[in-house]
Amino acid sequence: MSAFKNQYINTNEWTRPGIKNNGVRKLVVHYTANPGAPAANHYRYFGETLPAQNRKLSKKQQTYASAHIFVDRTEAICIIPLNEVAYHANDVQQIVNGKPYRGVAALKPNANFLSVGVELCIEKNGTFDPDTVARAEQVCAELCKMFKLDPINDIVRHYDITHKICPAPWVSRSQGFTDFKARVKKRMAGTVVTVPVVSNPNVTHTDTGRFIKNTVVAKDGLVLRTQRSAASSMVLTLPNGTIVKYQLGSTVNGWGYVEYTNSKGQTFHGYVNVSYIKSDNELKSGGQKKTASSKPKTTEKSKFSLPAGIFKVTSPLTRGESVKQIQTALAALHYYPDKSAKNFGIDGAYGLKTANAVKRFQSMYGLPQDGIYGPKTKAKLESLLK
Ligand SMILES: [Zn+2]
Repeated sequence: MSAFKNQYINTNEWTRPGIKNNGVRKLVVHYTANPGAPAANHYRYFGETLPAQNRKLSKKQQTYASAHIFVDRTEAICIIPLNEVAYHANDVQQIVNGKPYRGVAALKPNANFLSVGVELCIEKNGTFDPDTVARAEQVCAELCKMFKLDPINDIVRHYDITHKICPAPWVSRSQGFTDFKARVKKRMAGTVVTVPVVSNPNVTHTDTGRFIKNTVVAKDGLVLRTQRSAASSMVLTLPNGTIVKYQLGSTVNGWGYVEYTNSKGQTFHGYVNVSYIKSDNELKSGGQKKTASSKPKTTEKSKFSLPAGIFKVTSPLTRGESVKQIQTALAALHYYPDKSAKNFGIDGAYGLKTANAVKRFQSMYGLPQDGIYGPKTKAKLESLLK
């Protein structure tokens, strides 16, 4: 049985040009950069949303993008036939000696004509779920057999070709990618492999004090972070009610150190705002007194403020700071009103381009694609920018 299903999008100029490729020399792995959005949402985005918008834009404003296979925790969908070109790996990130940087010689002159693009979906916290990684390994093992490729040499990152920071988790930590290729090789040999969870290398806590059990009580879920600061990176988000272990005496300025073990037996560490975990007597005596500044409402608040109410294309256009806030939040998630324009088209006017960015965002996150900013779109933006 194949590790992926074929569910092809219709041919169109921008995402599936229908051009035959020149054979497959490498597999190129990517990450989707859309936190929490599964494979099916990318099928819809590249199959419908992006082509529909491009049809209404001038040539200069149109976006060309796609990949062959999208992988998430539960499935892998091949949206473009493997003998056709997808637009995934021939972008220009760096110019070296007057030419675009090309770190993989075998993919010159155009990587899109010589490779298959495999995209791994990311979780809400920006990481790869172990199940997504395991499925991507199965997909790549199957593709390596199909195209007679050697996983160690013939699976490359988008980063290796153009220096784009993609897939970000394996650019910041290349060992993760090295391990991935080794497991693909094992899978090809029929060996059963499991994907280990690697604790976040940015968490540098060294104290080995005693841990005690506590219960998460936050209404929005507990965020494990790499540092004692709401501005630091997320390790993991845990739902309300999850049991975590708190390390006695680890609280400094309202941030304590916890350990969490999931149902698969994988253990994670990180710092949490201690007002999010239930205070029993030991925690109370071991932790510092809470101050106003350590309240979750303050520390967990998004850096992005978003307006209430409804915003849509009006005549004359709605303008102002509120529109700018909406545009800034969209741009922070890579849904630019106008990628090629100055300041990405953040101009404080709710025009067609802003409505289009809202539509693309809504498409990716399963909301009705009306291009109208309202409570649901606001809530989804806020949840991603927390
Ligand atoms: Zn990429």
